Amino acid sequence: MHSTETLFTNAKLADGTLNDLVVSAGRIAAIKPAGSGGNAATMIDIAGALLAPSFVEGHTHLDTSFYGDKWIPHKPCTKGFDVHERVALQTENMAAAAPMDERARNQLNLCISNGSLQMRSHVMVDGSVGLTSLETILKVREEYKDIIDIQLVAFPQSGILKSPGTADLMDEAIAMGADLVGGLDPLSFDRDIKGHLDVVFGIAERRGVDVDIHLHDAGTLGAMTIEEICARTTALGMQGHVAVSHAYGLGDLTPDAAKKIAALIAKSGVSIMTNAPGNHNFPPVALLRTAGVTVFSGSDNIRDSWWPFGDGDMLRRAEIIAYRSGFYTDADLSAAFDLVTSAGAKALRLEGHGIVVGAKADFVTLAAEHLPEAVVAFPKPRRVFKEGRLVAENGAVVR
Ligand SMILES: [Zn+2]
Repeated sequence: MHSTETLFTNAKLADGTLNDLVVSAGRIAAIKPAGSGGNAATMIDIAGALLAPSFVEGHTHLDTSFYGDKWIPHKPCTKGFDVHERVALQTENMAAAAPMDERARNQLNLCISNGSLQMRSHVMVDGSVGLTSLETILKVREEYKDIIDIQLVAFPQSGILKSPGTADLMDEAIAMGADLVGGLDPLSFDRDIKGHLDVVFGIAERRGVDVDIHLHDAGTLGAMTIEEICARTTALGMQGHVAVSHAYGLGDLTPDAAKKIAALIAKSGVSIMTNAPGNHNFPPVALLRTAGVTVFSGSDNIRDSWWPFGDGDMLRRAEIIAYRSGFYTDADLSAAFDLVTSAGAKALRLEGHGIVVGAKADFVTLAAEHLPEAVVAFPKPRRVFKEGRLVAENGAVVR
């Protein structure tokens, strides 16, 4: 055995067996029955804890969280929920908050210490903030590149057509280092599905990047938008490269209508992100999975202007989704776990995720009997390893 290798001993895997894992150059080189791993320069005893793959935080907003800053009380919209008013309230709150880079680091430390080592964050790009938020978050991403993989989405929080100059800014955002092009409620916000999607898919095609669109629209309005996104995805051969975040409308459809559109979504290779927020219908996770749709998850907002919730724990998120979906059996609970690990890795097109030989040694220890119990108990503390290196324990990042 090479001196650069690390041996993780007595790790319980999902099948209940105890194993030793040989990690070499940051990857899992071998998985052997416990006690048969031999010796290595560095030995780390997992002591029978469950070893799970790192969590995939598939949808969050690093630029807007107030986590770790002073508590900013939530202000409701004055005449019922309105995205425009929420954005105005957010601007007000952010002006009074700690600097963005500080808040982004707080949120990253929270997510990493909970076991998320892969993340997709939307970052606001529009006429009011221009590219300044992206510049800040790009710098923070660079600081954290050794301990968490972050994809950034150029997110038009104020619409594309409604906020002059946003289309060009989004294109520039990709040139600067954003990985994906985002979108926002093409019909209800910009009132022009064609115009909105022309910009989003135009940039994606020209720049060769993936797409992740926020879609809050309910019922048939949401379903119609999804059909159009699926059509464009297929026409451009972008199957596997497009995600719709929230897709609340799917939760409003009759089972027959939902099955029909689920087949289309699966065929188009469009993935669906849900965080199962409390006051909305949300996509029928089991129905979509049965149809072959990749469903993944994220915290979305963590203690920001939109809501006061969020703990950056994707295992707890799995529990929330399972709870709201009526998932009781071990198979259902394992599906919820899949949402925050393997399905997330598939939606984000991550290479080398999972506890298999050849994969990156990105994993988290859990005091649980098995995955279903981990989903209902979301146990802490956890130890978190990035490419075989300890990066967090006892709720804090170690560097
Ligand atoms: Zn979001």
